[in-house]
Amino acid sequence: MNTRNTKQKEVILNTLKQMHNHPTILELYEQVRKSDATIGQATVYRNVSKLVEEGIVMKIPTNDGVDHYDGDCTDHYHFICQKCHRLYDLYDDSFLRVLRKLEKGHNFKVNRVHLLLEGVCQECE
Ligand SMILES: [Zn+2]
Ligand SMILES: [Zn+2]
Repeated sequence: MNTRNTKQKEVILNTLKQMHNHPTILELYEQVRKSDATIGQATVYRNVSKLVEEGIVMKIPTNDGVDHYDGDCTDHYHFICQKCHRLYDLYDDSFLRVLRKLEKGHNFKVNRVHLLLEGVCQECE
């Protein structure tokens, strides 16, 4: 990988980490363009896919047919509002405890969890 590619990947990752609204590729691309206008949409897409594969970025597929991305890969889950389509972070380790129990019971080692809860948020109620 040449230095230009490495630099682009860095800009994309840093931009995503600064965004706390779980952007789509398009939203991320628009933000990336503000720091480096030479980075194209395909480059953003390619790099983000790679970062997801490497476990550095979390991909959140939704039933809207749009994938959202999260630069925060610590253990947390998401809630999506079916009305305003906003994604909320859920930091709660109670599910983690259930998970450990499931691992033990089935002899699985879980590396990644995608948990998306759907409902109506407080603001839309
Ligand atoms: Zn809402
Ligand atoms: Zn999140």
